[in-house]
Amino acid sequence: MPKYIFVTGGVVSSLGKGIAASSIGCLLESRGLRVALQKFDPYLNVDPGTLSPFQHGEVFVTDDGAETDLDLGHYERFTHTPLSQANNVTSGRIYEQIITKERRGDYLGKTVQVIPHVTNEIKSAIRRLSDSVDVVIVEIGGTVGDIESLPFLEAIRQMRHEVGRDNAIFVHVTLVPWIAAAQELKTKPTQHSVKELRAIGIQPNLLLCRTERFLAPEMKEKIALFCDVDVDKVISARDVASVYEVPLVFAEQGVDDCVLDLLHIQAGPRHLERWTAMLERLKNPADEVSIGLVGKYTEYEDSYKSLKEALLHGGIAHNLKVRIEWIESDRLLAPGAEARLEAYDGILVPGGFGKRGVEGMIVAIRFARERKVPYFGICLGMQTMVIEYARNVCGLGQADSTEFNQAAPHRVIYKLRELKGVDELGGTMRLGAYPCNLAEGSFAHRAYGTREISERHRHRYEFNREFEGVLKQNGLLITGETPDGVYVEICEYPNHPWALGCQFHPEFKSKPLEPHPLFRAFIGAAHEFRKAKAQRPEVAELQQR
Ligand code: GLN
Repeated sequence: MPKYIFVTGGVVSSLGKGIAASSIGCLLESRGLRVALQKFDPYLNVDPGTLSPFQHGEVFVTDDGAETDLDLGHYERFTHTPLSQANNVTSGRIYEQIITKERRGDYLGKTVQVIPHVTNEIKSAIRRLSDSVDVVIVEIGGTVGDIESLPFLEAIRQMRHEVGRDNAIFVHVTLVPWIAAAQELKTKPTQHSVKELRAIGIQPNLLLCRTERFLAPEMKEKIALFCDVDVDKVISARDVASVYEVPLVFAEQGVDDCVLDLLHIQAGPRHLERWTAMLERLKNPADEVSIGLVGKYTEYEDSYKSLKEALLHGGIAHNLKVRIEWIESDRLLAPGAEARLEAYDGILVPGGFGKRGVEGMIVAIRFARERKVPYFGICLGMQTMVIEYARNVCGLGQADSTEFNQAAPHRVIYKLRELKGVDELGGTMRLGAYPCNLAEGSFAHRAYGTREISERHRHRYEFNREFEGVLKQNGLLITGETPDGVYVEICEYPNHPWALGCQFHPEFKSKPLEPHPLFRAFIGAAHEFRKAKAQRPEVAELQQR
């Protein structure tokens, strides 16, 4: 039987519970343990796939095609936990399962209730992850005190009762705010939050206190006394420049030792050498590159969480700092507006849905193609790359995707699967990992160093092979396709330093210790471009600004 760590949050949301859970996972792995991470989200959507990126941030996709909370992205970046649909469960999914059973008559005439039916379903979702791991880390979304998260808190309380004190612990992430007027850190919100937890029967074993400053020993003692937690288990989770520093901040204060102690686990010494070396590179870059990210959810950076991380990882691979400039694509439509793109060493168009912003992306792509600026198009960024090429190189002036114009005469991007008769929002996306073969000598092949890859997808529309002939005659290279030859997965430009559009989302598989090959190649090309530009005086002046 594995051991369990339940992570809850108090006082306010956005305290970084996901990073805290991931960092504990990272530390336990560094000591040779196998971990699984799981997130419960208290909202009633069955999955976050139908939520707006503005509401919820990125939808992270796993190999098995689950649309999940972005915290699962942190889990993958910090640990080797295998992730699937089972690792992210919402209240909506729990209720869906229960109601299906109820309609089937599985409850044999009994009254179906939150306790025990909902709580049992939650507990079995936790147990489903228990195979072949040493520790299961379960993060409960929301903040203690929310009505929605109560069934989850009750379920973990019961779970610990069932598995025993030595086999499960509670970690509570809380806030110790700095009050400028008093020039003091305040412990009261933490006390209240713990009081709230204890009222529902959960006594935390470890407190991770988010703070702007270091907690002085007296402060820790005060929290320990009022919350009835051992003083060495009150941890300062102070703000850091990079989330990847958090495992080290925790290690300095012996968080892993506390956890192992409480759970009676014998483990080897900590091995964080690779992690520390990665951080050194991140903090001491030799040079930098500036990437223009042309998208439509740019005012809400959480919508591109994995992308932002993957770009940083690409930088780590070359010892470069990556500056990301977010450009709202609509802004590029004003006359002459594309001149601002001259400032960047690489242009990236990320994934997205809907018509808004597309014409601005096309302006950016044309600029990248004509001016030979490294270009990376992801999902929508590949589709718009094909549309731009069809319009401006192949002379198909009305080329479009049927997503943006149903009646487009040149439907270079269309819904191939429409032909199979499936069309309903929230259920018809091509989701999850699919294999792809790469063309010999392509940018993609050179980046991956292999000709067979597998990447994760989340899209409805795809490249229309009826236009393959004309696009190819005009030079567009098709360098990746599914082994069955049905789907075009990668396009590239000829005679260009580096330009690649892919139908999949490589950002979901990038990790700080294993930067994704395409991000590594793109950042490398951007750096070459920057160096070449610096030779030209008018550009050097531009970069000074
Ligand atoms: N909107 C496009 C589609 O559905 C692209 C999706 C995406 O970028 N993830 O195919």
